Amino acid sequence: MSEILKAFVEENLSEETLIIVSNREPYIHKKAGLEIKIEKPASGLTSALDNILRATGGTWVAWGSGSGDREVVNGRSCITVPPENPSYKLKRVWLNQNLIENYYHGYSNQVLWPLCHITLDRVYFRKRFWEDYMKANISFANAVLEEAEGNSIVWVHDYHLCLVPLILRQKRQDMIIAHFWHIPWPDWSVFRVCPQSKEILEGLLGNDLIGFQIPLFVKNFLDCVKERLNADIDYHQSTVTYRGHITRLKAFPISVDYEKFNSMASSQRTEAAIKKIRDRYKLKGYIGIGVDRLEYTKALIKRLQAINLFFERYERFIKKFTFIQIAVPTRMKEPYISYKETVEGLISKINGRYSAGIWKPIIYIDEKVEHKDLVAYYRMADVAIISSVYDGMNLVAKEYVASQVDEKGVLILSELAGAADELEGAMLVNPYDIEDFSECIRKVLIMPEKEKRERMGGLRRLVRGKDIYKWVSDILHEIVALLLKKNIKCLYLFDHIDELKKRLVHNKIFLFLDYDGTLTPIIESPDMAFISDDMRSVIAGLKRHIPIAVISGRGLKDIRERTGIDDMIYAGNHGNEIWDGEKTVTTTHPLRPIHRMGAPCPELPVNGHILQEFLGKLKIALSHIQGVFIEDKGITASIHFRKVNPKYLGELIDRFRIEAKGYEKYLRITTGKKVFDIRPINAWNKGDAVSWIIKNFGEGRTPIYIGDDLTDEDAFKAIRGAGTGICIGVCRETEFYLTDQGEVKKFLEWMMEQVS
Ligand code: UDP
Repeated sequence: MSEILKAFVEENLSEETLIIVSNREPYIHKKAGLEIKIEKPASGLTSALDNILRATGGTWVAWGSGSGDREVVNGRSCITVPPENPSYKLKRVWLNQNLIENYYHGYSNQVLWPLCHITLDRVYFRKRFWEDYMKANISFANAVLEEAEGNSIVWVHDYHLCLVPLILRQKRQDMIIAHFWHIPWPDWSVFRVCPQSKEILEGLLGNDLIGFQIPLFVKNFLDCVKERLNADIDYHQSTVTYRGHITRLKAFPISVDYEKFNSMASSQRTEAAIKKIRDRYKLKGYIGIGVDRLEYTKALIKRLQAINLFFERYERFIKKFTFIQIAVPTRMKEPYISYKETVEGLISKINGRYSAGIWKPIIYIDEKVEHKDLVAYYRMADVAIISSVYDGMNLVAKEYVASQVDEKGVLILSELAGAADELEGAMLVNPYDIEDFSECIRKVLIMPEKEKRERMGGLRRLVRGKDIYKWVSDILHEIVALLLKKNIKCLYLFDHIDELKKRLVHNKIFLFLDYDGTLTPIIESPDMAFISDDMRSVIAGLKRHIPIAVISGRGLKDIRERTGIDDMIYAGNHGNEIWDGEKTVTTTHPLRPIHRMGAPCPELPVNGHILQEFLGKLKIALSHIQGVFIEDKGITASIHFRKVNPKYLGELIDRFRIEAKGYEKYLRITTGKKVFDIRPINAWNKGDAVSWIIKNFGEGRTPIYIGDDLTDEDAFKAIRGAGTGICIGVCRETEFYLTDQGEVKKFLEWMMEQVS
């Protein structure tokens, strides 16, 4: 593990206990005669997570699948690992044969796996699969709860454990729960096939953070939530608020231990192994390599068809190109057994057709090759072929690159594998286009050495810079950020009103009020949101004793008229227009706009023009979607979609995104409650406005800010440490919360009693 990561973990997570939860365990005890042997899966992920837990201590919860697993654990089903230097707990979850059949082979591998890999004809659903999937998830969650302490961070892995986060959340509101989804997440048109689409999404939304391999899967997940649940989605921040809980989504492309592969591949052992392999198979000419589990999503059949066509079209490569296919049998049940037979049948056919003398076009190895031996194949191969029809990432692609120490090989990579997002320099193919695929093999074999080196050199820099430790580090950084936020406790104001009372006695107050959602409930038509007479009269009364400003995303004129109280400060357009309350100004200039402190920013007029251009395009693009309301407020704009039928939300958001491309340089787009807010990039936010108002009209006063929306968070941040933030509903940016607008009125009345 890198020293930097180790230092980060020690510095930031020393107070917390990390609990990793996965289906597979990092150490398996297997009976071998009278002895019990320990096996360690060779995966880069397992060893990276194992390294982290060695540094932090903590617990790994996993299915105890080894024949000797039960014999070595204590009464709590735990054993300390690693054997040579015990530093963390491995807690085993016991699953009986039925659960293994239904939860693992059934729901996980026959429903979620094919569904997420968009091979719908392989989705096979049974009610008992789902029932046992729930039972198994409860067992995993209970095991976590047995080990969890007050400061535990739980990191769940993959599609076997979708329900664990929600089960944990229901028991432990305060717990930080993160999940990494290793496989693809399909779009809604596919995911809707899942009979438990709602339960799966709800289970995952128990998390604070969900990591996906690439941004496309984040988008797909958000789209599925939008279609299936009544949740608030912020597409720009990539967050979902569901039943009061916020889940953040982010892409973290997984990687490999570059240094390990690079140094293994450079070793003398590997050089000797290459020579042995060449001698054993009498290899001459170009060598191709494929390394896969015998898994239908890897599309071995399409790859073999492309190789077949390649030899058919380019006979001159007969005896000059040998393809080695390492295919590890996996999940040896249907449909994998038939798949293996089909693959092997096709290999025999191709070998029968093109073999010449002792040469045969395909060498087939159907057993697992350990990494220390695999690197020899990777290093010697002139080309590696990855043909997945859908793949979360595909680590083989990155392992090949990390092992290409001579930089002479070329990577042919399916554009449908997650790795294609990052690996610029690979030759991308569409595995469905067999002709193009076979042509690509030819191109690679005749590619000039210089181009091969340039491509591989670039790829190696990429993988070296983003190895498995960078991946772990990125996720842990995000978890630490969540931890910091969570440590800010948001308290129910009326339970702590005495605390605020003390502050009122000593301080002079400046009260800031957001409008929609704070003084009025959020309703379908924003133009119908008026404050009640009662609310108006309590604000008007309070204003005689303390200065008040109403701050809103609405236009200034609109917010003044709606609030209907004279002689008060108003900030409209998210703080970009401020009415300072001076009556004398009203007579000649009904509104006195004040832009940024000092002179207006030079780009503002340009951005103003750009905003108009963007709105013009949006009006056309969204014209056919009923319920969209485009509010042009001059300097800023809001696109309201509360009234849009949920069926059309997907289309609305896609169209909006298409139009927004290219404007991000000039305009800041944020998502509120069913609204997109658009502001010039250099415009003020509510926080800037609050700071400016205090400086100019309330020097020495302490701000109290009451708001409910994401745009109010800028204001909460601006006053943190200097004043008091109160939000409507629990929020991580404020000290106190109230539940609704009725309570805001109650609080204002209470303030009136304190100050009058
Ligand atoms: N693998 C291995 N020996 C083999 C074949 C594969 O160790 O004989 C490893 C390979 O090195 C890689 C993993 O299996 O680390 C396959 O990961 P990938 O992301 O490519 O596909 P997955 O099997 O996870 O879908």
